[in-house]
Amino acid sequence: TSAPETHAFEADVARLLHMMVHSVYSDKTVFLRELVSNAADACEKLRYEALSAPDLLGDETRLAIAITLDPEARTLTIEDNGIGMTADDMGEALGTIARSGTKAFMDRIAASSGSDGAQLIGQFGVGFYSAFMVASKVDVISRRAGADTASLWSSDGLGTYTIADVAAGDAPARGTRVVLHLLEDATTYTDRFTVERLIKDQSGHVPVPITLREKPDADPVDIADGAALWTKPKADISAGDYADFYRSVSGQYDEPALTLHYRAEGLHEYSVLAYVPGAKPFDLFDPDRNGRMKLYVKRVFITDDAEVLPRYLRFMRGLVDSSDLPLNVSREMIQESPMLSAIRKGVTGRVLAELDKLATRDPEGYSKIWENFGAVLKEGLYEDFERREALLKLARFKTTTSGGAWRSVAEYVAAMKDNQTAIYYAVGTDLDRLEASPQLEGFRARGIEVLLLPDSVDGFWVTAGIDHEGKPFKSVTQGAADLSLIPLINGAEQPTADATPEVADFIAFVKTTLADAVSEVRASERLTDSAVCLVAADSGMDRQLERILAMSGQ
Ligand code: ADP
Ligand code: MG
Repeated sequence: TSAPETHAFEADVARLLHMMVHSVYSDKTVFLRELVSNAADACEKLRYEALSAPDLLGDETRLAIAITLDPEARTLTIEDNGIGMTADDMGEALGTIARSGTKAFMDRIAASSGSDGAQLIGQFGVGFYSAFMVASKVDVISRRAGADTASLWSSDGLGTYTIADVAAGDAPARGTRVVLHLLEDATTYTDRFTVERLIKDQSGHVPVPITLREKPDADPVDIADGAALWTKPKADISAGDYADFYRSVSGQYDEPALTLHYRAEGLHEYSVLAYVPGAKPFDLFDPDRNGRMKLYVKRVFITDDAEVLPRYLRFMRGLVDSSDLPLNVSREMIQESPMLSAIRKGVTGRVLAELDKLATRDPEGYSKIWENFGAVLKEGLYEDFERREALLKLARFKTTTSGGAWRSVAEYVAAMKDNQTAIYYAVGTDLDRLEASPQLEGFRARGIEVLLLPDSVDGFWVTAGIDHEGKPFKSVTQGAADLSLIPLINGAEQPTADATPEVADFIAFVKTTLADAVSEVRASERLTDSAVCLVAADSGMDRQLERILAMSGQ
């Protein structure tokens, strides 16, 4: 054995630790959920690696998590016989943050005030470092599966950690032991009943069994059976079980807005347990953000990187467990397999169908989902040609006449005026500015409803040539519309588009003044109060899209 080496935490970790230790996050109990979830992940990783290297399991084939309390020493120990870590793994995993979205998270934290920050930490999943909310010192003793040597990582969370070799006798035969030296005000976590209740509430459904010893020389007691919830019959699962599982699979602490649990049979057999979250993850629009659905094969966790669902459903959490994907091929081969694309197709269709059902059954509940994830779902309108109609049916819009409520395209079409031939929309960057746009005057004066589209994705899908039952989508900034055929609601005369001599003179003046800056100047029935507005040519690009493209340098 050599002397311990001291290392400094990466800057982001140091910031995160500082926030934890100074306790912006009030619910400290999450540390236990996070450490148990890491132990369970480690067991699942070993299970996967053992598929191609069965020797890694040796005689110890039963993967499990053991928690030991020691009220006298004021410690709480979580031990797993999973994959374990080498000294190098530890430096990497427990000194840096590899997780995607970290940068977005840190930026949001830096920009937020105290209590917002607390919520964000909750959403991010506080991870290993949450141990420092309750511990003044954390020791991690680990032996990688198959390795002869073991190492000890140790830190007080104040900026540095040490890594040293440890004697084989002081380390687990395989896997990781995390010892928390609890703070004085955290002694409650050496209480058997407190810990048992927390584990059952937070981690009762992790797919690895958990035992608890109330003191080092006591017998271990089973407190979670490690059975895969998704394989149980629906009748045996309570709403509470589903919600607990959602929290453990997603790492989010909110209530799911929609739960989907079914088994597909036929050509391919697989189980699906998927959730629409009740809260919006902060990194939904981070360019690195991928889907988070987990892929299992015959209850063995394979990856959470497989695109089990298309990008526009990346807010979904949960898992798919296939009975017939081969277990003995690499993750990469599974990702490319036609069977996985068949599963993706099936699950995608089902998710959209369930959203549609919810929209009918519980319009208000559905509106909340749309409010959180509508901007993501709309990406599907131009990405997924095949499901465009289904997605358009799910879409909801605020409009000039909806008074802040969400409207469907079907509702819009049902309320169209006589002679109205298109579904009108206005694209912009925020609702208030959109509503104030002079472009809408002529439509308002005729009682014609206009969809207000404030999301950046809107500029794209509207140009994808979508229609609804033969009614095209048309921008209010594009050319003269049906306006001259639809009467004004206050009974006033149609403003005439035929220019009087004065107007003709004025138009000629504007044309010479603006020269090449405009392609045409003409009188129009679209305005009732304002004098002029900019429009795009009939065949031209929508003004908002023009702006987006100009900003992105195209
Ligand atoms: P996350 O679990 O989201 O990756 P954490 O902060 O919880 O983030 O953990 C960081 C990393 O530390 C894990 O990805 C894993 O590599 C490693 N790790 C933590 N606990 C264990 C453990 N019990 N066994 C093996 N590796 C672990
Ligand atoms: Mg973790």
